[in-house]
Amino acid sequence: MPNIAIIGAGVNGVSSAIKILEHYRNNEPNTPIQVTIVSDEFTPNTTGDGSAGLWGPYLLGGTDEAKVYKWSKSMHDFLEQIWLSDDAGEAGVCLLPCVRLSTTESSVGDFWRDIVYGSNDLTSKQLQRYNEGRTVKFTSGLSFVTYTSEPAKLLPFLMKRFLRNGGKIVRQKVTDLDNFILSSPYDVVVNCTGLGSRELLDDQQMYAVRGQVSRIKANWIYTAILDESDDGNYIIPNCDTVVLGGTHQVKDYNVNVSPSDKSFILQGCRRFVPGIEYAQHLKDWVGLRPGRGELRLEAEKRGGKVVIHNYGHGGSGVTLCWGCADDVLQLLLQSKSVSKL
Ligand SMILES: Cc1cc2nc3c(=O)[nH]c(=O)nc-3n(C[C@H](O)[C@H](O)[C@H](O)COP(=O)(O)OP(=O)(O)OC[C@H]3O[C@@H](n4cnc5c(N)ncnc54)[C@H](O)[C@@H]3O)c2cc1C
Repeated sequence: MPNIAIIGAGVNGVSSAIKILEHYRNNEPNTPIQVTIVSDEFTPNTTGDGSAGLWGPYLLGGTDEAKVYKWSKSMHDFLEQIWLSDDAGEAGVCLLPCVRLSTTESSVGDFWRDIVYGSNDLTSKQLQRYNEGRTVKFTSGLSFVTYTSEPAKLLPFLMKRFLRNGGKIVRQKVTDLDNFILSSPYDVVVNCTGLGSRELLDDQQMYAVRGQVSRIKANWIYTAILDESDDGNYIIPNCDTVVLGGTHQVKDYNVNVSPSDKSFILQGCRRFVPGIEYAQHLKDWVGLRPGRGELRLEAEKRGGKVVIHNYGHGGSGVTLCWGCADDVLQLLLQSKSVSKL
């Protein structure tokens, strides 16, 4: 019986676990299968839990664009399926009009604009209105409609689906991967530890990209506005609250809320929507994005067993999780035929 461990219960671990479990349940119902998520933290304490979960490739280092396209499209299709089902409310999936603005040469959404709905470049007149009062001007902008799937709702929904299908969970911190592989009963280990891989694998290519956000009550905001510049702000409505952002501080491991970041966020977002000043402030939150020169999704043989790595999703872990899980499953099926599990 294939006995598979997924280390990590963030969006990538849970998506990978579901893909594997449901593949066997649906296609090989006579093969008994055990899939266990082993993790020191679960929702609501993973990196995605505080994020808005807006679909959009972001902060992915040098990861191959064609792969990012494929992975992010898979997630968009998955979200569309959920949105059209009765589960959208429970899963926290909302359809959202967005405007992305850029101050750089390259146009917004160059390689992914056909995945989202109704993408249109802003006209120069529209850009001019966004540029009023600004010293650094936006040079391009894109309006479109896509999804948010806030992980604080999506993760409990996915965990429920995993457990309903017979998945198991174990709360454990893995401190020594080789020892875990040797001493545990698992045939295959899937490593979805995000930034945890820096310590677990001594992967020095991993680094934190610190993100601080605020949440407000403002159920009159129905559009996301995102300034893509290095010091840009963003406003992203979720189901019940609105996320204001944000920072992306490279190699900053401080998980405490910074008052100066908070005032940068609130002041910057007020420039787009002045009424934010009077909205109820709910909370501030800091998360460390799992930054890496390039997302790592590959299999290796370790201690005589197959280990599949799936980490380093930067600022797009939610956007890519379902598509990356497709590849994890493929790697597992290939390795299975090689090693005759
Ligand atoms: C402010 C902010 C806003 C964001 N907004 C968005 C957005 O709008 N859209 C988007 O797509 N992405 C967004 N992101 C990025 C996204 O949240 C991350 O890319 C994503 O959460 C990474 O998921 P993961 O499953 O790979 O890692 P994580 O969520 O970090 O999960 C790692 C898991 O592994 C476990 N773990 C780690 N080490 C060990 C160990 N040694 N032993 C056992 N368990 C271990 C942890 O407990 C955790 O369960 C945002 C991030 C931040 C910080």
